[in-house]
Amino acid sequence: MSSIVAHLINGERVQGSGRTADVYNPSTGVVIRQVALADDATLQQAIDAARAAFPAWRNTPPAKRAQVMFRFKQLLEANEAHIAQLISEEHGKTLEDAVGELKRGIENVEFACAAPELLKGEYSRNVGPNIDAWTDLQPVGVVAGITPFNFPAMVPLWMYPLAIVCGNCFILKPSERDPSSTLYIAELLIEAGLPKGVMSVVHGDKQAVDGLIQSPHVKALSFVGSTPIAEYIYSEGTKRGKRVQALGGAKNHAVLMPDADLDNAVGALMGAAYGSCGERCMALSVAVCVGDEVADALVERIVPQIKALKVGAGTDCGLDMGPLVTGAARDKVKGYIDAGVAQGASLLVDGRDLQVAGHENGFFVGGTLFDHVTAEMSIYTDEIFGPVLCIVRVSSLEEAMQLINDHEYGNGTCIFTRDGEAARLFCDEIEVGMVGVNVPLPVPVSYHSFGGWKRSLFGDLHAYGPDGVRFYTRKKAVTQRWPRRASHEAAQFAFPSNR
Ligand code: NAD
Repeated sequence: MSSIVAHLINGERVQGSGRTADVYNPSTGVVIRQVALADDATLQQAIDAARAAFPAWRNTPPAKRAQVMFRFKQLLEANEAHIAQLISEEHGKTLEDAVGELKRGIENVEFACAAPELLKGEYSRNVGPNIDAWTDLQPVGVVAGITPFNFPAMVPLWMYPLAIVCGNCFILKPSERDPSSTLYIAELLIEAGLPKGVMSVVHGDKQAVDGLIQSPHVKALSFVGSTPIAEYIYSEGTKRGKRVQALGGAKNHAVLMPDADLDNAVGALMGAAYGSCGERCMALSVAVCVGDEVADALVERIVPQIKALKVGAGTDCGLDMGPLVTGAARDKVKGYIDAGVAQGASLLVDGRDLQVAGHENGFFVGGTLFDHVTAEMSIYTDEIFGPVLCIVRVSSLEEAMQLINDHEYGNGTCIFTRDGEAARLFCDEIEVGMVGVNVPLPVPVSYHSFGGWKRSLFGDLHAYGPDGVRFYTRKKAVTQRWPRRASHEAAQFAFPSNR
């Protein structure tokens, strides 16, 4: 055990209460450091710092706020290799995948650099005689983000660059499972010139999250994580009058039509099902094959590719997949594979007994494939969050769409086809928030917003992009008249209008 990952409050590292949790290297199964877990006093320190910084920050010109983000972007790019190493060491994903997540995160910093344009508001001259009106976008105040383990760099970057350029002060509560890259990145933001107190990082567990929910000084909560916690944070936060956007779990289906370019679809499925060991909220975990012919052809092509997956320590180069994040995550995934077998699905590739030479205590599960999966099985109904792909066989596009629309989650989906009419019907009628046509991971770019439907998102506004600006600002409509000194109007008792 080499060190303790500290909180970052008022620009300084703070150790806090002394309560800590283990952080593992999932490739070796060894505890490599501890992370501090905030108590109420530590959280209060961060809230006080944010409240103190807010008046000056909200009045700092948006162009000046954006300049901090330009410098932040440069620092992120200059430190890409180190950040990827920190992500991979604690999360387990491959270095290449870690670089990919960081680059997608940087896109959100670039979007935030447009703050002066994004915050221009609206103006109307002469809404009445000599009366002008405008709508101003003002910051909400002290806002907080609670983030999951699976994207320790990217998901926090969905939130705080935009919240901060909108004039808010931000408290981040990252995942306690892989906190180091998140903390390092936040320190780069301080190095970029952000005034102390505008951004704090408070590590912790339920106690810290409940403290954020209960504090009357925290005006908005952005959450990304599993559905039960998303629902809890949404209901507890809104009950207290806060703005909440809470993004939850997923079960993402890919529909393979009989006319799909199967070689491309198989490559896309491999990456989207097994990349990051299936620990992505947009991972494709169900392949819905329209017709047995497509299903048989898919099985023939994909089985050898799954068996050939290169699995090892994420920090080694040239791999396809690393381990799962914790021993508990590995056991949960193996439990689902056991259940799939018990419930009658055909297990075509079994990753349960994978051994990685030199990493015998790592949290590995190999690529796994089930065929003949049905809608009642737990491997179909639940988010497994591991390298498990399920094939469901249906006889028509309508049946495939009904299956997807009936699922409780609605985060992402995609269709592989050459038929524009089928693709258009799918885009129109599928009840899912993010849809790909021949695109396996339709994660919107930073200038479109990200969000699922049904139990994949609680709240009204999606994350980042234009919806992010709406979430992190309050509208104020001002109507203004400067009457000429000589003009006097009699009292008007009828409601004023232009008619
Ligand atoms: P999680 O829900 O366990 O944890 C997320 C955050 O909530 C962490 O910061 C954690 O400390 C905190 N938390 C955990 N238990 C809590 C409790 N009882 N009370 C209050 N706070 C609590 O999620 P995870 O395992 O870190 O991440 C994986 C999940 O996140 C998956 O379900 C995945 O689909 C989802 N996810 C969703 C999206 C999306 O955009 N919809 C993106 C990434 C991940």
